[in-house]
Amino acid sequence: EPAAGFQNEPLTDFSIEANRTAMQEALDFVRSEFGQTYPLVIDGKSSESRSTLSSRNPSDISDVIGHVAAASADQAADAVDAAHRAFPQWAAMETSNRCEYLELIAAEMRERRFELAAWICFEVGKPWAEADGDVAEAIDFCMYYAHEMRRLDEPQQCDFKGEENSYSYRPRGVAVVIAPWNFPLAILTGMTTAAIVTGNTVVMKPAEQSSVVGAKLMEIIRNAGVPDGVVNFLPGIGEDVGPELIASPDVDMVCFTGSQTVGLEINRVASDTDERQTSVRHVIAEMGGKNAIIVDADADLDEAVVGVMHSAFGYAGQKCSACSRVIVLEGAYDQFIERLIEATKSLKIGAAEDPSTKVGPVIDDDAKQRILAAIKTVDAEVGEEVALSIDTKTLDKQGTFVGPHIITGVDPDSNLAQDEIFGPVLSVMKVRNLDEAFTVANNTRYALTGGVYSRSPSTLKRARNEFEVGNLYLNREITGAIVQRQPFGGFRMSGIGTKAGGPDYLLQFMVPINVTENT
Ligand code: NAP
Repeated sequence: EPAAGFQNEPLTDFSIEANRTAMQEALDFVRSEFGQTYPLVIDGKSSESRSTLSSRNPSDISDVIGHVAAASADQAADAVDAAHRAFPQWAAMETSNRCEYLELIAAEMRERRFELAAWICFEVGKPWAEADGDVAEAIDFCMYYAHEMRRLDEPQQCDFKGEENSYSYRPRGVAVVIAPWNFPLAILTGMTTAAIVTGNTVVMKPAEQSSVVGAKLMEIIRNAGVPDGVVNFLPGIGEDVGPELIASPDVDMVCFTGSQTVGLEINRVASDTDERQTSVRHVIAEMGGKNAIIVDADADLDEAVVGVMHSAFGYAGQKCSACSRVIVLEGAYDQFIERLIEATKSLKIGAAEDPSTKVGPVIDDDAKQRILAAIKTVDAEVGEEVALSIDTKTLDKQGTFVGPHIITGVDPDSNLAQDEIFGPVLSVMKVRNLDEAFTVANNTRYALTGGVYSRSPSTLKRARNEFEVGNLYLNREITGAIVQRQPFGGFRMSGIGTKAGGPDYLLQFMVPINVTENT
């Protein structure tokens, strides 16, 4: 039974002309707003900084989306101070009031739905439908966490003869929220609203590449009337402000989503203690994946081809849930590969703001070079072959594009099969039987998403038992988790923490207290 009272925000249907017009108008409006400067916000006050970041449109890098203040280490310390000072009052507030702030944030996002999608489309190169999905997910996080917090606010009584026991939750204190650029609104909103609805105060650090969307979220949080100091906006360079934030004795938890390298570094720094600390810092770190789909010999290939293609190349493969390995049973191999290649050739590559685009740019030139370098490791001597490489020459003058790539014969132990590439590169592996398929699928340090296409109930049953991933999808694509319906997150080297958008998520932001009264 879905929790009563919470409903997912519907996605926008762009086949309806009025929606297409609204999105086009929003894109035009947002374009007219390019190039502005966005300050830090500490304790409700805007402040400048010595340096600024310029955020560019990856579809056309001559567009400067905006200039955003880049915090210094001193300003990071000021932001922690502000959050620390704001904590007692915010923690003491009635839970229902804190929930109402989240509902106000969601209401403004709903009103500015197209505008926010347009900022996302321009700033991180997300095609229309996916930019819209990002906003819908942000709204879902606000509404779901408000709903969940109302549920958790009821103390659990366990009375016994002569004693009353009550079990309830308290906030941890100051939370540092550090987000990636690939879901620039949804993930930043999810982590931040979870932290504040549970009574913590926040220093919110967006990724450099999506700082303007971060500034828009801060604007919405302020418009909702969230008191000064409860959320402090600290854009900047991770390496510059990260250590100051994470090692501060006044920080009680770090809530991170991003790459494994940075997540492990944050976990290392956070675990150091000094004598000024009054709590052991709690770390949530949602990290990357090397996600596989198994295509069984009896799979419905019409479905499998489309599902693998969307999972691998949607948002140019830049989702932590994206499919980067496909493991195909011998019996289906030739037909599947041929059809996958044909289908992938038909994907329209282009600027994200173009409504017909299916595959947009990659986030920046660093990402492009990293992806191209990974493709260069293809080793013909071990039988690896670039079976499809879609050229983006005409687009390359403007933006940072990499076309979809399909690589066959990939050695399961090679870097191609083991490292997260975070781009539109799909490694294909042929296997003889299901035993081999599951062995290859699990042969990675990550455990985030995975999928199986099969018509056999026995294969699907094996998948449930043997496929070691946080989110398993059977006979469908492996991206696009929806709040509450598919709580999202991995384990092993894919992350520490429970699932975002799920019933355990908020518990991580609180400490449980038990009170016993002798009666
Ligand atoms: P990233 O490079 O790890 O950056 C994430 C955030 O960490 C950014 O805000 C970054 O700031 C900051 N950062 C960098 N170095 C830091 C340091 N030393 N201390 C503190 N913070 C630091 O990841 P990304 O490129 O933005 O995002 C892509 C990655 O996120 C992929 O690996 C993807 O799989 C993962 N991801 C995981 C999930 C999930 O739910 N499991 C969801 C989405 C994405 P700067 O921008 O200034 O470097």
